[in-house]
Amino acid sequence: MEKQSMKVWLDGKIIDGSKAEVSILTHSLQYGSGVFEGIRSYYTNDGTAIFRLAEHVKRFFNSAKLYSMNLGYTENEIEEAIKKVAKANSCKDCYIRPFAFYDDANIGISVLGKKVSVYIAAVPFGSYFGKPNGIRCKVSSWRRISGESLPLKAKASGNYINSIIANNEAKASGFDEAILLSSKGTIAEGPGENIFLVKDNQLITPDDSSDILLGITRDTIMQLAEDTGIEVKEKECRKDELYTADELFFCGTAAEVTPIINVDGIKISKGLGPITKLISKKYFSVVHGEMQEFKHWLTYI
Ligand code: PMP
Repeated sequence: MEKQSMKVWLDGKIIDGSKAEVSILTHSLQYGSGVFEGIRSYYTNDGTAIFRLAEHVKRFFNSAKLYSMNLGYTENEIEEAIKKVAKANSCKDCYIRPFAFYDDANIGISVLGKKVSVYIAAVPFGSYFGKPNGIRCKVSSWRRISGESLPLKAKASGNYINSIIANNEAKASGFDEAILLSSKGTIAEGPGENIFLVKDNQLITPDDSSDILLGITRDTIMQLAEDTGIEVKEKECRKDELYTADELFFCGTAAEVTPIINVDGIKISKGLGPITKLISKKYFSVVHGEMQEFKHWLTYI
């Protein structure tokens, strides 16, 4: 969507995207001091619905809290604002981006007394990787930032410089995406995705101690797997378990369910295998409002 035609919510008002401007010296632009969310809406038979809105807004507030950032709104106000932006942009399949940042152009790291602004934008969005038959990944030589250095439960802009360097390396080496190891050397996650391994018809995913963002899609997949009768284990995973998995997939709001068919040139034995197909099919049915028992995750706009 053109910047000019996009409507954004900025500090309580819906305005033209072209009018949403900040100084080039904005604190959050210089230092990565913003917090944000990534949310999807999907077009369903009953109209456009936002997927797991309350959970995303809750995480947005927790991200801000971890950085002592006062958003100045209630969770309910931000939920309503997100719905408004989706409506103003006639969203069908969209990516919605709430962002809170220090709207201050004074030089200096301290955020004390600096103004916090919140914007919400929405753009049409399709498949993130555009490769339904699977992607090829590289285990990054860069480690995932440690949870002892930064709170990884916060979806903070600064964290993503770590994601960018890993993604750069993977792309430069001819791969589609990176997989980062944790500071302990166990499997952590992708630059913007959580990872699942399939082994002997069981799902395995790195646990909370593996330097991961606890993704909302990860939680969705775990609940859908349980509902299907597939066992899920959260644990530390080693690199050799990754290479010898029967199937692998990434998940995330943007990535949805993306099969990984090759890691570091090693073919994953079943590639886009039966469990990934089953989980993926169920995930897409749920986000499109086709499963009554999971409709409570949908907020119609
Ligand atoms: N890990 C990282 C680092 C991410 O940026 C994301 C995307 N938000 C995820 C995992 C997946 O999280 P979610 O399913 O909540 O989008």
